[in-house]
Amino acid sequence: MRYISTRGRAPALSFEEVVLTGMASDGGLYVPETVPELSRDDLADMAGCSYAEIAFRVMKPYVGGEIDDDIFRTIVRDAYATFSHDAVVPLNQLDANHFLLELFHGPTLAFKDVALQLLGRILDHFLAKRGERAVIMGATSGDTGSAAIEGCRHCDNLDIFILHPYQRVSEVQRRQMTTVLADNVFNVAIEGNFDDAQAMVKASFADQAFLNGTRLVAVNSINWARIMAQIVYYVAAAVALGAPHRPVSFCVPSANFGNVFAGYMAYRSGLPVERFVIATNANDILHRTLADNDFSKQELVATLAPSMDIVVSSNFERLLFEAYERDGEAVAALLERFQSEPAALAEAPLARLRERFASHSVDDATILEVIREAHHRTQEILDPHTATGYRAAECERGDEAVPMITLATAHPAKFAEAVVKAGFPGVPLPPHMDDLLEREERYTVLPAELAAVQKFVAENRR
Ligand SMILES: *Cc1c(COP(=O)(O)O)cnc(C)c1O
Repeated sequence: MRYISTRGRAPALSFEEVVLTGMASDGGLYVPETVPELSRDDLADMAGCSYAEIAFRVMKPYVGGEIDDDIFRTIVRDAYATFSHDAVVPLNQLDANHFLLELFHGPTLAFKDVALQLLGRILDHFLAKRGERAVIMGATSGDTGSAAIEGCRHCDNLDIFILHPYQRVSEVQRRQMTTVLADNVFNVAIEGNFDDAQAMVKASFADQAFLNGTRLVAVNSINWARIMAQIVYYVAAAVALGAPHRPVSFCVPSANFGNVFAGYMAYRSGLPVERFVIATNANDILHRTLADNDFSKQELVATLAPSMDIVVSSNFERLLFEAYERDGEAVAALLERFQSEPAALAEAPLARLRERFASHSVDDATILEVIREAHHRTQEILDPHTATGYRAAECERGDEAVPMITLATAHPAKFAEAVVKAGFPGVPLPPHMDDLLEREERYTVLPAELAAVQKFVAENRR
């Protein structure tokens, strides 16, 4: 399998190269050159298979033989053995035909574990094979950092440095990162805000001289392997509800669009999906684009669903590439315009998107109302991100006979603030984390200065 850039001007890469590379040299994102087919027989044969087996079968064509089958099976099995539910991503039926796909049973209680438990192991495998080491740098305001740390803590060939804004992440989220005391994990609290931390990570990727030739790897959702890992649960959920014999719909609480794009890849491979509903919080660029063709940046709003607080949806570019029928020049032109002024999609690509995607935006007051209402109707306490999905799924339901699957992206204990605001006493952390607030922490506070951060990384990497 070869991978090509959405902007059409970067060289095609192999799977191994694409996982180690991140963004394409032309500023685009890598996508597979061809979409592997999941035939009706392939889907029918998955009925009754374990999650790990479905994962192996769905991802194998994307890996394209670059990892030996037995080794890849072991990597996949180990990655999903870290989840606390035997089904890995269980379905929970809410009413007659609305289901929650619980993606939060991994080590850090959010769906990012599904991809990052796998990505750390794949990176470690390729690095060991090449006899190389690499450094991961990332900035986080919450979920990504802890999931990346949990995904890399056992990797022999990786050192991970995660920057978070000092005293500006919740205690649970900070402790999920800082109580991992592995030798290759470095938490840095930056005396600044998230944007300062993000800017330093970006600058470090742009000029890597401070690492003297050691590779710097990105584990944000531009990394293709994260998308690939997420395709699996769309297939597993649809098969559990009767694919290939009947279609399903999905509703996805969205921000950078990595999650829902993975669902779209499953659909393009042949999974029968009636529609995708994109749920956003008040940061609604995806909803404005689909509903009003208003593809423009707006001020960031801090919401009760903070992991969906974004101005730009980086992975939307991958869907635009498909909507523009893989015309990289057109995508590059649209995104260059979008950087400096409000933009709009051309008519035909927008019409193509609207055939398969609906969208809905949910504000903070509605998130609280939904948490109460869903509890009243189903006894479930939803986390605030999942709450946006619950409401969007109801508003954009479509054909009532088609099962609607809303993706539950986080465990409610992780976002207790919203749950308490909605009038509940809070939700206990699951047993494997119930002593989180007593565990020893380790992190280093640094000023928001690039030189200081780079010196720390250069001196501490092993
Ligand atoms: C990251 C995240 C999202 C958004 O996912 P994208 O792939 O960026 O669209 C939604 N909910 C939670 C809890 C998250 O951590």
